[in-house]
Amino acid sequence: MSALRSTLDFLLYDWLHAERLNERARFADHSRETFDAVFETCERIAREKYAPFNRLVDTEEPRFDGEKVILPRATYEAHEAYVASGMLSAAQDYDEGGMQLPYTVEAAAGAFFAVASVSIGGGLLTKGNANLLMVHGTELQKAVFARNEFSGRFSGTMALSEPQAGSSLSDVITRATPDGDGFESDPLGPRYRLRGNKMWISAGEHELAENIIHLVLAKIPGPDGKLVPGTRGISLFIVPKKLVGTDGQLTGERNDVALAGLNHKLGWRGTTNTLLNFGEGKYPVRGGAGAIGYLVGHPGEGLRCMFHMMNEARIGIGIAATSLGLAGYYASLEYAKNRPQGRPVGPAGKDPSQPQVRIIEHADIKRMLLTQKAYGEGALALMLYCSRLVDEQHTGTPAAADEARLLLEVLTPIAKSWPSEFCLEGNSLAIQIHGGYGYTRDFPVEQYWRDQRLNMIHEGTHGIQAADLLGRKVLMEDGRGLALLVQRIEATTARAADREDLAAQAAALADVVRQLGAATQAAWLGGDARAALANAVPYLQAFGHVVLAWMWLDVALAVPASSQDPAHIGRLACARFFHRYELPKIGAWLAVVAARDPTCAQLPEEAF
Ligand SMILES: Cc1cc2nc3c(=O)[nH]c(=O)nc-3n(C[C@H](O)[C@H](O)[C@H](O)COP(=O)(O)OP(=O)(O)OC[C@H]3O[C@@H](n4cnc5c(N)ncnc54)[C@H](O)[C@@H]3O)c2cc1C
Repeated sequence: MSALRSTLDFLLYDWLHAERLNERARFADHSRETFDAVFETCERIAREKYAPFNRLVDTEEPRFDGEKVILPRATYEAHEAYVASGMLSAAQDYDEGGMQLPYTVEAAAGAFFAVASVSIGGGLLTKGNANLLMVHGTELQKAVFARNEFSGRFSGTMALSEPQAGSSLSDVITRATPDGDGFESDPLGPRYRLRGNKMWISAGEHELAENIIHLVLAKIPGPDGKLVPGTRGISLFIVPKKLVGTDGQLTGERNDVALAGLNHKLGWRGTTNTLLNFGEGKYPVRGGAGAIGYLVGHPGEGLRCMFHMMNEARIGIGIAATSLGLAGYYASLEYAKNRPQGRPVGPAGKDPSQPQVRIIEHADIKRMLLTQKAYGEGALALMLYCSRLVDEQHTGTPAAADEARLLLEVLTPIAKSWPSEFCLEGNSLAIQIHGGYGYTRDFPVEQYWRDQRLNMIHEGTHGIQAADLLGRKVLMEDGRGLALLVQRIEATTARAADREDLAAQAAALADVVRQLGAATQAAWLGGDARAALANAVPYLQAFGHVVLAWMWLDVALAVPASSQDPAHIGRLACARFFHRYELPKIGAWLAVVAARDPTCAQLPEEAF
């Protein structure tokens, strides 16, 4: 059994008891056997169709021949196998052709693909796009667009960013104007013409599917022709690359969406990344320039609808980051077991007549391996915990569902950001373990690091996630989300306090939770948002470390205290490592938060 599979099995079944989900009506047909069958299929496809081509998709970047984007053959084959597995629609209702699989299992299965080749990808955007339409679309929009995405016939994008509007989406200037008389009565939704440029759009152009369904944020000008400032003016549109009839068939008309260029990236090169021109007249359609788009929901509600996709995408990014962290850990563990270098220092120094030892025998290499294991497997526990909350939100009692919703609000910035930052550090350690070889393309770890580097940037940068956490999430509903989280952590520390081997960890965790609460209050003392948010990133780091320390303590509780099973010993070591090496960092991060330290914020530009 692969290391990933055995870790998943432990976390899902011994720790989260995921098989109990089948006590719920929605999952009644499922059992551990059906979950395992999904994992076996996904692991096999990832092993055969993804892993062998991870380097190939990195070196053979997507290219544009003036008409089409060319991708390596292997990408098509991996995509076909993924679609054939049914994973695009796995969580959907039986009526929709799905398997009614819990999100927890779907998310866990996604890790097999991301560990094997994160940039060949597992339909994250297509699924997110279709899921959004299932919630906010009309019946016909669901039938024509979402269902064809779930079947793999169409693929999906999210087109938010513009060259001048990245973090600040309120500044998008793509315009949507009504498309002639009767625009409101188009059966596919009120019909508009869109004009503008969208930057960084992942999977924005390719030939992997029959059609590409862009979900585009744009502004509808007011009667004076001006765009409404702020997010209030943003609406959401379905803009297909090729127009589709109400029967879901292509009409044969190319929409006015043109590839302006491919971005050449540091990593994640198996996925195209595009600058798209909407409505510039390259492909005039139905008598003129302007990309045809259909409104989703009501005007002005675009960002609210989009958040549905963004929250899901953020957990997806956390899983990708976690998977890359694990991939680096597995590669460097393998290397460390085989590379002879150096000799141990004995009481009389080193004995050069002795053979060299394998580097895994050096304490510093063990430190770097344990750091990666604690980061990667800890992040995996967090992602599964959040995924389990998604299932609770959808299938729990009203009270439990509401609690899960609120916990997810608070935990989503952590789920996205913590693995992105700390599994990147893990990937750096994987290179370090390889020494000079790690710095070459002969080993996979430099690619993992490059692929990983994206995760702190997209889906809301690190800084934006931090501001969201401290500026909004911990305050919302009178701080109820944070209070709920603290309750859950306290439940864990209370249980751990009764276990001799974990009592000290429980006490230390209880202490940093108190420090976190005090720092949150101190940051907001006086209510000056500028001063509070000046140290939002150290707050995010501290908060994330508290959550991860909690995850490890809770996971450790699922391990029998005196077990001699090496996997159990490894998990208890991770909990201990986190407690001794990582927990002390929290105080330093929180100190500047609590003091509203102005060192960075108040430094004049000229002093740099
Ligand atoms: C490979 C890749 C794939 C992507 N895929 C997609 C996609 O599919 N769809 C899509 O719509 N977008 C996509 N993006 C865009 C991505 O979401 C943006 O790059 C991101 O939101 C940041 O925007 P920006 O690049 O304009 O940077 P900016 O917003 O200019 O940010 C630059 C820096 O300033 C900081 N900053 C900005 N505003 C503030 C503030 N108010 N307070 C403090 N710090 C601030 C940021 O944290 C960052 O460090 C992708 C990007 C990349 C690189």
